[in-house]
Amino acid sequence: RLARLRARLVRSNNALGKGLLALLSRDRIDEDVWDEVEETLLMADLGTEPTMELVDALRERVKVAGSRNPAEVKDMLREELVKLVDPSMDRSLATQRHADRPAIVMVVGVNGVGKTTTVGKLARALVADDKDVLLGAADTFRAAAAEQLATWGARVGVPTVKSDVDGADPASVAFEAVKAGIEQEVDVVLIDTAGRLQNKVGLMDELGKVKRVVEKQGTVDEVLLVLDATTGQNGLNQARVFAEVVNISGIVLTKLDGTAKGGIVVAIQRSLGVPVKLIGLGEGADDLAAFDAEGFVDALLS
Ligand code: GDP
Repeated sequence: RLARLRARLVRSNNALGKGLLALLSRDRIDEDVWDEVEETLLMADLGTEPTMELVDALRERVKVAGSRNPAEVKDMLREELVKLVDPSMDRSLATQRHADRPAIVMVVGVNGVGKTTTVGKLARALVADDKDVLLGAADTFRAAAAEQLATWGARVGVPTVKSDVDGADPASVAFEAVKAGIEQEVDVVLIDTAGRLQNKVGLMDELGKVKRVVEKQGTVDEVLLVLDATTGQNGLNQARVFAEVVNISGIVLTKLDGTAKGGIVVAIQRSLGVPVKLIGLGEGADDLAAFDAEGFVDALLS
């Protein structure tokens, strides 16, 4: 399964890796080539600062190394990229049950980024890890959202707590979900939330309230922000708005299949100071992977 996911990531990203390696393996690396390297990195959404850092580091290393062969270049590039992605960040998920209550995970993000799908996939992964999971459908704004989540619940074999009333109070649904999770002694409660960005103040109020009300029964262990990798700078702006509203503990980057924009991982981590913990690589139940810096860079360059 891992090999399959990696293959998909490789397919989507190798345009970036291949392009860079081809450029850096040229007989003569002149200013034009460095410009092209920069352009390639910017196109991959790495962001201007990390791009300049990487190019400076590579220029220095290429100069020092004198002679270059493709294998050497690949090693340099790999090392510098891994540094940027930062293997020292803690990417573990806080899904361990407490003595008296489940772990509580809130999933936030703008509509359409893949939030509900991510909750479904994450439930599946946790179940495969022998955990009892319960879903809370606190996205009560879109009528179809709760249904969609319940469908995922049924598919994965876990219960879903939702309201039968259209436009119910999301905080009260989230509260009921955690209450049910405590009563049923599950390991993890995953709460799907609404993501309307049109009204920033409204969103702030709503997400803040969901969290406050949930925390009457126990501290939220993990707030995962879901971002669509294909939206580039736009995703970064969304991330900043959410980070103002709630303390984000991890990023889920979806739709990394079929895009060569993997550089966004670095840009987002820099901007928020929060690690990418999971990546979405397709629409299927198994298309979610734990993020790991070295594996990601290897996929980029293979
Ligand atoms: P939400 O509005 O944020 O809850 O978004 P949904 O979970 O409904 O997903 C929106 C669309 O994106 C759906 O068609 C999903 O199948 C699709 N989607 C979600 N995650 C991924 C992913 O990792 N890769 C791809 N290719 N599609 C995804």
